[in-house]
Amino acid sequence: MYIRVNPRDNVAIIVHPDGAAAGVSMPGGITAREHIPQSHKVALQDFEIGAQIIRYGQAIGYANRAIPAGSWIREDLIEMPLPPALDQLSLSTAVPEPLPPLTGYTFQGYRNPDGSVGTRNILGIATTVQCVAPTVEYAARRIKAELLPRFPNVDDVVAVTHSYGCGVAINAPGAAVPISTLRHISLHANMAGQPMVVSLGCEKMQPKLLFSNDFPVLEDGVLSAGNVIRLQDQRGFGEMISLIMEAAEKRLAILDKRRRETCPASDLIVGMQCGGSDAFSGVTCNPAVGAAADLLVRAGATVMFSEVTEVRDAIHLLTPRAETPDVARALIREMQWYDDYLAMGRADRSANTTPGNKRGGLANIVEKALGSVAKAGSSAIHAVASHGEKVTAKGLIFAATPASDFICGTQQLASMNLHIFTTGEGTPYGLALVPVIKVSSRTALAEKWHDLIDVDAGRIATGHATVEEVGMDLFKCMLDVASGKKTWAEHWGLANALSPFNPGPVT
Ligand code: CA
Repeated sequence: MYIRVNPRDNVAIIVHPDGAAAGVSMPGGITAREHIPQSHKVALQDFEIGAQIIRYGQAIGYANRAIPAGSWIREDLIEMPLPPALDQLSLSTAVPEPLPPLTGYTFQGYRNPDGSVGTRNILGIATTVQCVAPTVEYAARRIKAELLPRFPNVDDVVAVTHSYGCGVAINAPGAAVPISTLRHISLHANMAGQPMVVSLGCEKMQPKLLFSNDFPVLEDGVLSAGNVIRLQDQRGFGEMISLIMEAAEKRLAILDKRRRETCPASDLIVGMQCGGSDAFSGVTCNPAVGAAADLLVRAGATVMFSEVTEVRDAIHLLTPRAETPDVARALIREMQWYDDYLAMGRADRSANTTPGNKRGGLANIVEKALGSVAKAGSSAIHAVASHGEKVTAKGLIFAATPASDFICGTQQLASMNLHIFTTGEGTPYGLALVPVIKVSSRTALAEKWHDLIDVDAGRIATGHATVEEVGMDLFKCMLDVASGKKTWAEHWGLANALSPFNPGPVT
């Protein structure tokens, strides 16, 4: 009938797809005073004006009028609390004990010379600027049709195009974020760490700038001049395309020799995010992903959680879990950076929640954040990465990104070789360079989108599975997908455009 997450909660979520009808009796002697839709909240007690409304054992707001028990607690009845003050947080005061190691789990991956492990074998054509994107996409279509069939061990040909590269203040502090992100994506483990690069010629983000840290001299054999094709040096479109195709053929011959080998689960670098969340996300898919995150941490893998604006209102639950006070301070630093960023744009944290979130029963960002951080499981937070920084540490990592699905995905792509995406309202999201496993918060969505959702966590709400069982299913699904099993997004070829986070000025 309803789900109450924490014994302290004085509201609960309606489970039935048709909602609760007015007059229906519910557990605890509550009678619905009105029709309450699925995934929306019912008052389990009478509220006086100003009383705390508690979900996940935390105040998600205050009643702005008297609310009788059995009422539908709609967004407009709730006053949002202030965000936790960043100078009053507990640092590393409740660090969880290390979880027992989990051994014996492996997957079949592509090991690269630099030690990184790919989950796919992709010819990626990196680009320095948006101007070349349609040309590279044209070439990629031709390569796929005319060359790829001769190289059966290569999974795909991807034009790694994006919206950055010129018309920006390339030396402004914020520019380091997209440049670093695109550098790491261009050297992605699923592209064997050695890209082909197409440049225009006159753009601000020159190949040398993009790869400055990795390849101080471009002619070092790894990223030799032959790997960079400058369109302004070529005679006509035909010559550009034949040059790209010639380079692609050489690269395909190398990639085709790659073979999968047995790799420990510790070689997984998993990025987790949610999108199109509803009130079930925090009780089904996100806790299941949290259980899977614990398994990954136990197996020695890297698990990233991100989305600053969805962590901000739950930060008081996270800083105590930071492994050291320095890690806790790094978490606070990222929260402060984003508070300042939002203030500069005269936006506040209420800008995060979408009409879909609200339709799905999430009253405000506090409720959304409390459900969102369930993805982080129960282990200690081992490290924090800033925007655009590549994550190399093992364990549970907070990697700062915006919460926007396609921007967060692009930022995490700089580090991850596998992506977990939870959704309540549903989105057909996918990425070209890594597999995206989509997890639904409700069985109704998994049934409606039977050919888009990979794992149904709604079984938890209906009592057909526990959080731990779905977590283990998801963990095993990750190993299968990392070994080559296709996700639905891959089956349909769904790939969202790369959208690097650019906090710097556009000129
Ligand atoms: Ca998101």
